[in-house]
Amino acid sequence: MTSQTIANTPTVDQIRRAPKVLLHDHLDGGLRPGTVVDLARETGYTALPATDPDKLALWFHQAADSGSLERYLETFSHTVGVMQTRDALVRVAAECAEDLAEDGVVYAEVRYAPEQHLEGGLSLEEVVEAVNEGFRQGERRAKENGHRIRVGALLTAMRHAARALEIAELANRYRDLGVVGFDIAGAEAGYPPTRHLDAFEYLKRENNHFTIHAGEAFGLPSIWQALQWCGADRLGHGVRIIDDIQVHDDGTVELGRLASYVRDKRIPLELCPSSNLQTGAAASYAEHPIGLLRRLHFRATVNTDNRLMSHTGMSREFEHLVEAFGYTLDDMQWFSVNAMKSAFIPFDERLAMINDVIKPGYAELKSEWLFRQTASTSGSAAAKD
Ligand SMILES: [Zn+2]
Repeated sequence: MTSQTIANTPTVDQIRRAPKVLLHDHLDGGLRPGTVVDLARETGYTALPATDPDKLALWFHQAADSGSLERYLETFSHTVGVMQTRDALVRVAAECAEDLAEDGVVYAEVRYAPEQHLEGGLSLEEVVEAVNEGFRQGERRAKENGHRIRVGALLTAMRHAARALEIAELANRYRDLGVVGFDIAGAEAGYPPTRHLDAFEYLKRENNHFTIHAGEAFGLPSIWQALQWCGADRLGHGVRIIDDIQVHDDGTVELGRLASYVRDKRIPLELCPSSNLQTGAAASYAEHPIGLLRRLHFRATVNTDNRLMSHTGMSREFEHLVEAFGYTLDDMQWFSVNAMKSAFIPFDERLAMINDVIKPGYAELKSEWLFRQTASTSGSAAAKD
């Protein structure tokens, strides 16, 4: 490693302070462990595997890491289990915004499935309004602590259920009121996105935006359906697009038709490295397709997916990538601008975030490096005299 690359490697502190943009984060996958414990006590939820926050955090991480789908899904039954009241939803959403802001995220789209929060008697509308209120509270508290963040909600419909059109209509009704788009999630195998064509066609007719979880565990057919049958604006994960890219021994790269389409049309890939490692979609950070996809200039973005289960955050994701690929602040800026360009808020607002928040933020971090270099160079020159 040359001194140049060492100097360009952002420190942990710089990674945290760098303005970051998050497009793929699940509200029920990002609770603070202490909050899960509190809410379980307050709402009479007795099924938690541990009531000590540290032990519970470890349990979540290990269950998600176990390679067992059953245990992985059990983690969500607990978080969703304690998110069945208005107060719980407000608190979880507020803390989500606060935690992201603390981690240097300036813009986030956080998703959740309203249909999973009705067990306590809330209506779909009450769920959406509670989460929106929480996000606004969190934004205000973050501001009081010197951080600026804007959070938009994505409403998710579950692939195995039959409420996609209803949820799409809900997303459309709360458009401009805190909800910025729609998503479908859940097991890919056996539940193709084309099951929910009526929802996607409705949203297209309404000129609304949506992303689809596709190409995570399941391969190219899922990505192809999401794009060419459903018309998704973005791909949730989309990491298996790598299956349509051939790297030859001489280093040349060949893109299949679908991979070409994704790159040519600048389809955003909501890549979630740590989550992929847990589900086995990649063996290590260094082997994660994000390295190749970034080199080939796909519209790649970095995301957290489930911060609690994957024991991660945006800064931590970038720490892993910096270590694996030697990424610099310029790379981080590239990913952040990519994500901001791909957000579902209006174009003029995205542009303002890029020009007034993201670029100045990175420029400042890069100038710190320049001043430090100058100081240490003059220091060593002085020592020689
Ligand atoms: Zn996801």
